[in-house]
Amino acid sequence: MVAPGHLTPQPDTALGRVHVVQHPLIEDVLAALRDKGTPSHEFRRLARRVSLLLVAEATRDLELTESVVSTPLEEARVRRLAPRIVAVPVLRAGLGMLEAFLELVPGAQVGYFGLERNEDTAVARRYYEKVPKDLSNAVVFLLDPMLATGGSAVMAIEGLRALGARRVRLLSIVAAPEGVATLARDAPETTLYTAALDRELNDRRYILPGLGDFGDRLYGT
Ligand code: URA
Repeated sequence: MVAPGHLTPQPDTALGRVHVVQHPLIEDVLAALRDKGTPSHEFRRLARRVSLLLVAEATRDLELTESVVSTPLEEARVRRLAPRIVAVPVLRAGLGMLEAFLELVPGAQVGYFGLERNEDTAVARRYYEKVPKDLSNAVVFLLDPMLATGGSAVMAIEGLRALGARRVRLLSIVAAPEGVATLARDAPETTLYTAALDRELNDRRYILPGLGDFGDRLYGT
């Protein structure tokens, strides 16, 4: 039994390359995402909302270039995003984060990885790949909402690195300590931004307390 209570918002926790993004709005969205009574249409809206907050945080340190525009009154020095940005949602759950990403970074290119995990072994298999070819000059944002064992995230990151990616940021909504450890071991150069770091995996490799199967909840399957 979990006792309800009042908590004070905490500053972001940055453990090396792991950012647990903390914000009262994120807590509020997570509460509804975790609730098994939340219907799919609402779950999709909430996934988009928490993703907006994560994307804002995960792009906080991107480089800018200066230029000049004419306002109706005079010239103004302005700053625009400098790097080439590529978003790569992992099908199908990552699609729940893509619209929010593109709303905040409309100039991003989009690639797709289709990964599915074997429900018995939890080992991931890549069944689809459509990603821009040379990623060497891009900041790549991998969108994968549930970082469980970390196996599929590492497989996707290896795929991105094979295409030349050097700057990879993984955006997840809920992460398990096991997945964070896998990432630190097998993809240590990747920065993780997550809205929640949960307790553990169960014996079927679902995150506890988690929010269940993200793809199923997103699409009502
Ligand atoms: N994938 C999910 O959708 N949920 C989990 O808890 C783990 C992996």
